[in-house]
Amino acid sequence: MERIKGIAVSPGIVVGRAFLVGTAEQVVPHRTIAESEVEGQVVRLREALDDAGRQIVELRERTRFELGEEPAKIFEFHAGLLRDRALVSAIQRRIENGRATAELAVAEQFRVLVGQFKRMGNEVFEQKANDVLDLERRVLDSLMGEQEDRLAHLPEGSVIVAHELTPSQAAALDRQKVVGILTDLGGRTGHTSIVARAMGMPSVVGCQRLVGLIEDGDELIVDGNEGVVILRPDPRTLDDYRRRQERSRRSRQALMELSGLESVTRDGVRIQLMGNIEFPEEIGAVLANGGDGVGLYRTEFMWLTRDEPPTEEDHYRAYVRALELLGGRPLTIRTCDLGADKYTQERMEDPERNPFLGLRSIRHSLAVPSEFKAQLRAILRASAHGPVKTMFPLVSNLMELRQGKLMLADLGEELEDEGIPFDRQMPVGVMIEVPSAALMSRTFAAESAFFSIGTNDLVQYTLAVDRGNERVAHLYQPAHPAVVYLVKTVVRAARGAPIDCSLCGEMAGDPVFSMLLLGMGLRTLSMVPDQIPVIKRVIRSVTMEQCERLARRVGSFDSERQVETALRDELRKLDPDVFGQWVAE
Ligand code: PEP
Ligand code: MG
Repeated sequence: MERIKGIAVSPGIVVGRAFLVGTAEQVVPHRTIAESEVEGQVVRLREALDDAGRQIVELRERTRFELGEEPAKIFEFHAGLLRDRALVSAIQRRIENGRATAELAVAEQFRVLVGQFKRMGNEVFEQKANDVLDLERRVLDSLMGEQEDRLAHLPEGSVIVAHELTPSQAAALDRQKVVGILTDLGGRTGHTSIVARAMGMPSVVGCQRLVGLIEDGDELIVDGNEGVVILRPDPRTLDDYRRRQERSRRSRQALMELSGLESVTRDGVRIQLMGNIEFPEEIGAVLANGGDGVGLYRTEFMWLTRDEPPTEEDHYRAYVRALELLGGRPLTIRTCDLGADKYTQERMEDPERNPFLGLRSIRHSLAVPSEFKAQLRAILRASAHGPVKTMFPLVSNLMELRQGKLMLADLGEELEDEGIPFDRQMPVGVMIEVPSAALMSRTFAAESAFFSIGTNDLVQYTLAVDRGNERVAHLYQPAHPAVVYLVKTVVRAARGAPIDCSLCGEMAGDPVFSMLLLGMGLRTLSMVPDQIPVIKRVIRSVTMEQCERLARRVGSFDSERQVETALRDELRKLDPDVFGQWVAE
């Protein structure tokens, strides 16, 4: 049995069997194969070598065409290696006599060669060692390409274990079969974590060395409340966790009983609780949890789940479907927020060196106007079917807002000419998630119909801490006084305009922050649907006066530790039984 501590990102406790997912380099199966499997593994090896050979020929031809004869010669060495009888038979022997999987045999024998080249200790051979590693990755990728096939045949009760999982990989997982998600990398507000929460799947990220410790099929416990993973648990631990699982289920059920009750403070202030969604299908969960509508529809998942950009009709169908499911409740559509961790950089021809500060979100949309126009036209058309608002993500200067609004106005005229109905009064707002926008929020308020504060990015850019990097996760502090100050500044600017202001970062769904957010003046919070009941529970337990007093007190603190301690203490006082799991240090 082994206990690994990671970062709790999606609550719940499950017991399941490990299913390893990842790039070839990350997950080489170390199991011993049966004699009956030897022939199959040798065939797989041959096919993978042939496949890598074909790739090398293509690469050589492309290089010759684009760069000339000399650079193309580099690939002669790769091609020669693949024909090297000694190497190929060593790999084959490792399968036949050593009963290794094809992947392991390839990895081991290629590494022997790398070691030999490295020991020669000169630059030419150092380069050759890199070439061997490159080729190894190609052969392994080809062998492990079968992974997609494996994913299509997941056993029930699988816990996905990956070094890193992209948001689109997570979103594509079969929810009938997968019971939990574990990754070595990642942070609490990374998009994969958000998707795991949206799927209601217990999840722990930032486990750092889990992939290396685990074999496919190993039994494990995922404790998404505490951020703990237990490998190969003993019977006593298993019993203990089954009891905790039952307790967690019962407390969730009790919270769900609130879903039909109003979200109102003890002194009668109504707070709108909205759901964040990635797909229209999640609206069922928003309503089941007692949500008032959708406060953030992350439309970029339409790009992430297909190879081609979505067409106007794809957008239109999705938005109309969302409005139908909402039955007259409001829908806030955020335009495409591609980029950074929401665009696998491998998909780009020329990956960015620093994608979090790169061509992402509204910048990306403005740079690809044909895709942006298709989306905006569809939003306008959909606005004829129900209450739609539109907002632009990661706006950092006024021009971006103005350009977006201008495009909407032009498209509105186009629709008018074509006699297509749309809501001429559709509110257009901005997400405030960059410090420049927060600091200029009074100026932005004059040209926006509403604000939605995106604290996930606001924290990252204010504190210069990557939201998805487990190494700096301890520095990612929504309770940092600088963040609290910026949120307060934005809420005040909205109130002064006056325009509506909501908050849709993960902070909105964390009960530790609810009283502070209410006390600072927020009246609309948008969150992962599963969190709505617990936030409603906080709201129904407090008065606005209590919240405002707390906000004033917190406003004078100068460290995140002080802020967080004060918030936890207040929450604990409300009901230690219900909120115990959120205030545990
Ligand atoms: C945010 O940044 O807080 C936000 C809600 O947007 P996303 O998490 O999709 O970046
Ligand atoms: Mg964001």
